[in-house]
Amino acid sequence: MVIDVKKLKFSGKEECSFHFEEKFDDGLITLPDAKFLTPVSVTGTLTLGGNEVYAEGEIEYSVEGACSRCAESAVFQKVITFDEVYSDSEEADPDKYSFAKGLVDLSEMVKEKIVLSMPFAIFCKDDCKGLCPVCGANLNITKCKCKE
Ligand SMILES: [Zn+2]
Ligand SMILES: [Zn+2]
Repeated sequence: MVIDVKKLKFSGKEECSFHFEEKFDDGLITLPDAKFLTPVSVTGTLTLGGNEVYAEGEIEYSVEGACSRCAESAVFQKVITFDEVYSDSEEADPDKYSFAKGLVDLSEMVKEKIVLSMPFAIFCKDDCKGLCPVCGANLNITKCKCKE
């Protein structure tokens, strides 16, 4: 996910839109046994401003894993908006990402946003009834007799 700011400057424009689809390692996902269903999609606009570059847009991903209540397959979809500053100054600024040689690499930022947005639990459906704690029956499918 690298954008060549030199090319953009050279073309005389101050802004460009971008769209990337990139496969990220499933190891990024903090949920057990989960994987990305599709490549992560990143769409946005890059704006030049002196030594800085502003990147804003949306990250979209979907993850498939086990429902935290019943362990059946569950899909989690998320759209994250971002609005970040990239600086090519040598001094590190904790509020900004850095770039060098005119190349802005969005991958690290995208990774961070994905990790921060990851839920602790996912569900096959909002009202998943889960498993019976006594007999382990999937209560979405059957009614066990434990409660009677
Ligand atoms: Zn479930
Ligand atoms: Zn039961």
